[in-house]
Amino acid sequence: MSKAASLWAGAKLSSLTRQIGDRLLAAGIAQGALEAGFMVRAVLGKPTGEWIDPDIKLDSAQAEQLSAMCIRREAREPLSHILGNWGFWSLDLDVTADVLTPRPETEILVQEALTALAPGPVRILDLGTGSGAIILALLAERASASGVGVDISPAALKIAKANGEKLGFDERTQWIEGGWNAALAQGPFDLVVSNPPYIANAVIAGLEPEVAQFEPLVALDGGKDGLDPYRDLLPLMGQYLKPGGVFVFEIGADQGEAVTSMAKSQGNLHRIRLVQDFAKRDRVVSGMLS
Ligand code: GLN
Repeated sequence: MSKAASLWAGAKLSSLTRQIGDRLLAAGIAQGALEAGFMVRAVLGKPTGEWIDPDIKLDSAQAEQLSAMCIRREAREPLSHILGNWGFWSLDLDVTADVLTPRPETEILVQEALTALAPGPVRILDLGTGSGAIILALLAERASASGVGVDISPAALKIAKANGEKLGFDERTQWIEGGWNAALAQGPFDLVVSNPPYIANAVIAGLEPEVAQFEPLVALDGGKDGLDPYRDLLPLMGQYLKPGGVFVFEIGADQGEAVTSMAKSQGNLHRIRLVQDFAKRDRVVSGMLS
């Protein structure tokens, strides 16, 4: 057993959690105390909200596990990768280094899609599905909906599929490996959603280490100006959507103007809307096929 772990095996949980929080804080993690609590819960198998006795002590296996988690997090590996799961919308999703960790901002996209969605048994397409977060959240809200998730990464699709299976959505989902046009044969759809890679490639190296060093580049890199995916996606909407069908895309905070004007210039898309996230930053562009 490592030295830290052997010390921790006898220590009270409250002092241990404080020590870990301080170490994470020293490593530059602002929410260190909160994250320490998440790690402790993971090791004890206690879900959020369940009371934990602050005086209990860890056994040596638990102490070892917690110590390893703390070391990984100090190296700025994302908490989601360490825990192996992450909350999004109402779902608890498996997450690994093969997928972008779902962000709270992306729930704005889900909200906008649900608002735009016609009633009835709609068909949904999620391009660049990653963990499956967006399409699975939509299917969770709409019991009669079905859909297709596309991703260029076979490793990501494996995660998405496992997440779908866990939720019992097998019969309502299809997963396809490929690029933006990979699901043309499965259309037309009532709704197309996407959180594509939209970071300008020169910017990526300067992002926080959790993102730059640990998240999949293929889920981040949007080319020279970050807008490459929209240049491909918007012209495909005429083929993917039914007339009156809706697209909802996530965008970078500085891309609102560029993406709305690209959408307008397609000619076949109307009711273009730009939606802000809770920090009042541009986050989603939506529109309808004429
Ligand atoms: N929102 C992510 C970030 O800020 C980027 C996700 C994306 O490129 N789609 O790192």
